[in-house]
Amino acid sequence: MSLIAIDLDGTLLNHRNEISEENIKAIQYAQERGFEVVISTGRAYFDVRKICEKAGLSTFVIGTNGATIHSKDEKRISAAAIDKNHVLSILRWLDERNYYYEVFTEKAIYTLKKGREDFYNEIKSMSSADLDADMKELVEMAERQFDQFGYVLVENYHDILKQEEDFYNILACSFDKKKLEEGWAQFKEFDELLVVSSADHNIEITSKNASKGIALEKLVSLTNCSLDQAMAIGDSNNDLSMLQKVGYSVAMGNAKDEIKNVCTATTLKNDENGVAHAIYQYLENLVIQK
Ligand code: CA
Repeated sequence: MSLIAIDLDGTLLNHRNEISEENIKAIQYAQERGFEVVISTGRAYFDVRKICEKAGLSTFVIGTNGATIHSKDEKRISAAAIDKNHVLSILRWLDERNYYYEVFTEKAIYTLKKGREDFYNEIKSMSSADLDADMKELVEMAERQFDQFGYVLVENYHDILKQEEDFYNILACSFDKKKLEEGWAQFKEFDELLVVSSADHNIEITSKNASKGIALEKLVSLTNCSLDQAMAIGDSNNDLSMLQKVGYSVAMGNAKDEIKNVCTATTLKNDENGVAHAIYQYLENLVIQK
């Protein structure tokens, strides 16, 4: 059996954060032919479930950058949380430097009330300013980020630490490139942590036992699929771990060159139903090989 792993933002979702009819049809077409489809994303599981329900899709879900795996019948089959002491030191460090951050658990996305207001105002002031194309795209991406489902606003980071939940992913944002690089440098020094990025304005921190690639490996062994035959589609740095593990790696047309360069193929953009295009191409290639 073969498997198709698909990233959400910038990949399966269009710029309106929707899954197009064409993409839905292509996924269902693959599933009807016996392919396992996996949504693999930095988003939290409850958020992904909402998106899939709206689209009428039922798939495996690798959530919070590989920290969780859920089955099609909504059971959690794997989880890798960040050690609580590390959560404390990460949040303290981010807080002292005034980063905007979000903390992902099984139930919610925790963020500071004040931090969210500040970040929102920053986005709004930039939206009306005269920006170059790259920066404009970045601001639009940040705006779409607020579209996530499940936010819980708290007063300070101690309110987050008080929650008796596992913490899966911590996302920090800034439009200041230097500031983000400092965050990246700070946390990559931890042997127990993994740092990736899903957009130019963020860094995302998980346990070192959580990545899209590690989760995909687990899922492949659970479903008797083969990595050599599997396809993964993505657009960002946090997709690299899964793109590098499969036989068919596909970069979105809107992906950066560093992603395209490591993939076996490039498909159309997310606003051009790139996922559907990649799925049909992949199925056709498999038929030709047989
Ligand atoms: Ca993405």
